[in-house]
Amino acid sequence: MSEHVIHFIYLASTACFILSLKWLGAVPTAKRGVIVGTLGMALAIGGTLLEPTIENFRFIAAAVVVGTIIGVPMAMMPMTAVPQRTALSHAFGALAATLVGTAEYFLHAPHIARFTMGALAIEVILGGLTVTASLMAAGKLQEIIPTRAILFRGQHYLNLAVLGLAVLIGIYLVIDPGAWWLFPIMLGLCLVFGVLLIIPIGGADMPTVIALLNSYAGLAASMMGFVLNNKLLIVAGALDGSSGLILSIVMCKAMNRSMANVLFGGFGSASSAQGAGVKGEARALTPEDATLVLQAARSVVVIPGYGMAVAQAQHVVCELAELLEENGAEVKYAIHPVAGRMPGHMNVLLAEADVPYEQLVEMDDINPIMETVDVAIVIGANDVVNPAARTDESSPIYGMPIINADKARTVFVLKRSMASGFAGIDNPLFFNENTRMIFGDAKKTLQALISEFKNS
Ligand code: NDP
Repeated sequence: MSEHVIHFIYLASTACFILSLKWLGAVPTAKRGVIVGTLGMALAIGGTLLEPTIENFRFIAAAVVVGTIIGVPMAMMPMTAVPQRTALSHAFGALAATLVGTAEYFLHAPHIARFTMGALAIEVILGGLTVTASLMAAGKLQEIIPTRAILFRGQHYLNLAVLGLAVLIGIYLVIDPGAWWLFPIMLGLCLVFGVLLIIPIGGADMPTVIALLNSYAGLAASMMGFVLNNKLLIVAGALDGSSGLILSIVMCKAMNRSMANVLFGGFGSASSAQGAGVKGEARALTPEDATLVLQAARSVVVIPGYGMAVAQAQHVVCELAELLEENGAEVKYAIHPVAGRMPGHMNVLLAEADVPYEQLVEMDDINPIMETVDVAIVIGANDVVNPAARTDESSPIYGMPIINADKARTVFVLKRSMASGFAGIDNPLFFNENTRMIFGDAKKTLQALISEFKNS
């Protein structure tokens, strides 16, 4: 196959990736973004298979079989497990970059140009640390390993020393690519650093860390492009790297945290602050009584959180909203940027239940009108509606932007107990005068509300 044709396929693939990212940025065009992204990847694989340098397809076929065997069950993991699934994907991507880098080094050393050796060292350093860090992150999210942040004296110095040594070896290898015995030491240090990087980070910060690891894996792939002289890999890796970085910055902003605080803050450690504590008595309400209030409501705002995902309550929420609308109420869904366990978690679930996009309102747009809302229904959300973030300076989440559910005339909180959310702190909203707790699994509570609504 002519090289021009392959280059043209790569160009088309690059265009697909760029358009995909653009379309993935908005809910109405997201589906198109997924399709075009998949097409881009298919073109990239197709173009690679046409490369005249490939002499034997046996290993490629074996890799496709192994990849399919691992990939298909991973794609079927439940929505609630998507963060850990994403972490595993990054681990595999980074592993590929690390293995390719290692193979390229041992195939060509010491005859490697300085620039290529520099790119190769960065590829292996970033790839290696991303492999173990992503596996650790997945383990913490799946709670296979303890989720709390583990801190010890001199930890940051140790981490810096391990990474610093790996970088110094990388620099030495650029000067003397023939020092092959140093290569496994550099790789080993990076693998160890990946573990050390995640130990001091609590489970609550894992989704942000995963976005950052996404960025590292992308940069490793981009460097791999320089090593292999493959322009598509350079561009795709750079797109991946920059979008991961932007996403982690957006998430930090939504939690009012700095990247340094996420990486070194030990949020979620046994000793992290608990806030001023909450006193008072929560008032419980039955679905029957709640229905009477809802029937009189003219405006209702649904505020979903992680519990809605756990209960898989998105379809019943939509059904209740339709009943409320038939009854003359205006219904909106207030979406917090970090509600749930990954960015866009709530949007995906509500889209699955065919909730009209126009009814989804972002936090900054709903907050100014919260005081005019008759009933706010908080469904399995906790941290993202915690007023302590606004009022309690000693709270670990102080300053995090929240949805001001407490400002609605009446607040219904649907959850199973008085347990705290992911940040592990109490929520004064549950004790407010205008709040009523409706205890139970969110899906079952919503089903009870629906049947009361229909029968009354
Ligand atoms: P939270 O984790 O704060 O709270 C979820 C609540 O859901 C719990 O209090 C739990 O209470 C309740 N719940 C669980 N299962 C059910 C069920 N079956 N039925 C009813 N309720 C249930 O969720 P939020 O969405 O409010 O906040 C997300 C948190 O995750 C924030 O702290 C955010 O910073 C963090 N985070 C999110 C990221 C993202 O990208 N989305 C990234 C990084 C961090 P109970 O057990 O009593 O039922």
